[in-house]
Amino acid sequence: EILKYYVHKGNMRMAETEHRPTNFIRQIIDKDLSSGLHDAIKTRFPPEPNGFLHIGHAKSICLNFGIAQDYTGTCNLRFDDTNPAKEDITFVNSIKEDVQWLGFTWDGEARYSSNYFDQLHAYAVELIEKGLAYVDFSAQDVMREMRGTLKEPGQNSPYRDTDVETNLSEFAKMTAGEYKEGECSLRAKIDMASPFMCMRDPVIYRVKHAHHHQTGDKWCVYPMYDFTHCISDAIEGITHSLCTLEFQDNRRLYDWVIENISIDCTPRQYEFSRLNLEYTVLSKRRLIQLVDENHVHGWDDPRMPTIAGLRRRGYTPGSIVEFCKRIGVTKMDNMVEMSMLEACIRDDLNANAPRAMAVLDPIKLVIENYEEGQTETLVAPNHPNDESMGTRNIGFSREVYIEAEDFRESANKKFKRLVLDKEVRLRNAYVVKANRVEKDENGNVTTVYCTYDPDTLGKDPADGRKVKGVIHWVDAATAQAAEFRLYDRLFNVPNPAAEENFTDAINPDSLEVKHGWVEAGLADNVPEVGAWQFERTGYFCVDKDSTDDKPVFNRTVGLRDTWAKMGE
Ligand code: ATP
Ligand code: MG
Repeated sequence: EILKYYVHKGNMRMAETEHRPTNFIRQIIDKDLSSGLHDAIKTRFPPEPNGFLHIGHAKSICLNFGIAQDYTGTCNLRFDDTNPAKEDITFVNSIKEDVQWLGFTWDGEARYSSNYFDQLHAYAVELIEKGLAYVDFSAQDVMREMRGTLKEPGQNSPYRDTDVETNLSEFAKMTAGEYKEGECSLRAKIDMASPFMCMRDPVIYRVKHAHHHQTGDKWCVYPMYDFTHCISDAIEGITHSLCTLEFQDNRRLYDWVIENISIDCTPRQYEFSRLNLEYTVLSKRRLIQLVDENHVHGWDDPRMPTIAGLRRRGYTPGSIVEFCKRIGVTKMDNMVEMSMLEACIRDDLNANAPRAMAVLDPIKLVIENYEEGQTETLVAPNHPNDESMGTRNIGFSREVYIEAEDFRESANKKFKRLVLDKEVRLRNAYVVKANRVEKDENGNVTTVYCTYDPDTLGKDPADGRKVKGVIHWVDAATAQAAEFRLYDRLFNVPNPAAEENFTDAINPDSLEVKHGWVEAGLADNVPEVGAWQFERTGYFCVDKDSTDDKPVFNRTVGLRDTWAKMGE
């Protein structure tokens, strides 16, 4: 219900006709299927419920669920919920909503790593019994010190050779809540001299006296990500476990755990590069900070790169899926231009959004030779090159609103709008000629007085006068007052994450609010695609802050790419 105003169905015709994507992961899958290694493909999308999903997650979602779709396999949604202190059920719910909104269906019920806490604990015990894990009482800073560096090997902990019996009873005490946080942890016994830091006896279980959103107060020891993820994959029978490049080294640990426990499944991990998008941040830590420090108005602020923010901004699911298709999947680090994302929504809405007229920054145009009290209904096409979208009726009377910037007292020939003593066409209506103006005390034009040529509705002036300019307008008698929110990039630099303090790079002018007018009844009739093109001003959708008296419109994107010239 909350979504009433801004849920729209993706409807991208071009996406439907395109071929399946190909990438190195799909090539691996093709090989695994033809060699008979697998006969069914199982993937998973494993978000940690500690924030809302962002456009980077959409890349992972489209990859994992897209593979399941194209190979008639399945994809699980699994909440990677091993850090109860930072996680919350609100995030669980928002993640489910976002995945579904993007158009994907997970296999069966949503899963949780916490569903496997009993099994994970038993596997930890198995490692202890095999002499492959030990309880370490070293202080955390000592442990860090002894890990060594990339150039120097680490040193063995004094607890590394504790006997199995003692380790079993100490782990039991850890589990029973007899130790404080940080007092001890369970470590895998691998190789303190490994060139891969993650293999230097990594912690696999830690003490955490915290309430968990799924398991309540049952546990006071929680498994670490590297131990949990691979086992959860194996339990679920995942064939291809796809993650981002920063886990490349951790693949050794992933394989080590699976090899050393008695589980009958060998999932394989493959890494791809994460999405980075210019002029924004895509790390949950930073997005959390933007929300917590009120730099934006919540997770679904239309300036946020979250799925919820993009949805509220007016992005369709189809446009986001198309974006993920266009950027592809590789192992190369990259920074994608914002104009790539905007092109996708523009392509969708250009084809599928009906046209309408709105005046964002109004001045009044009084047609002096139009009889007072007279009104008429004009017919306007909803789309310039798609007749199937039909027409609508718009009111016309003696007074209309036009954009302040569409009028000048004097101008050269390049200005193809309304100028004193010159003519312009009112879109879908008549040709008018400006005669005189009225100004406020600051010298700003508030009203333009004009005359209209009644013989120009749907046709050129009879005497062959050429009228080049066309401007949009809204009938003052029937117009609906509206608020317009225009958005700009959230940051002033292409890569805010590289700044010492990324919040210093926030663009103070990322939101501009305008008060103007739209055609009557517009907001009560939201089109299927969820947005309109307001002629000459951009694509807009209705925001959830709308009231019955005053609709609020978000500008999803302008009509043309304005990013390209930004570097100049
Ligand atoms: P962050 O670094 O923003 O906190 P994360 O990787 O910790 O992100 P998770 O909730 O663990 O966030 O991510 C779930 C899945 O989405 C993981 O498989 C992760 O690799 C993937 N993912 C996260 N960010 C991106 C991104 N920018 N591009 C592609 N995939 C991503
Ligand atoms: Mg993560």
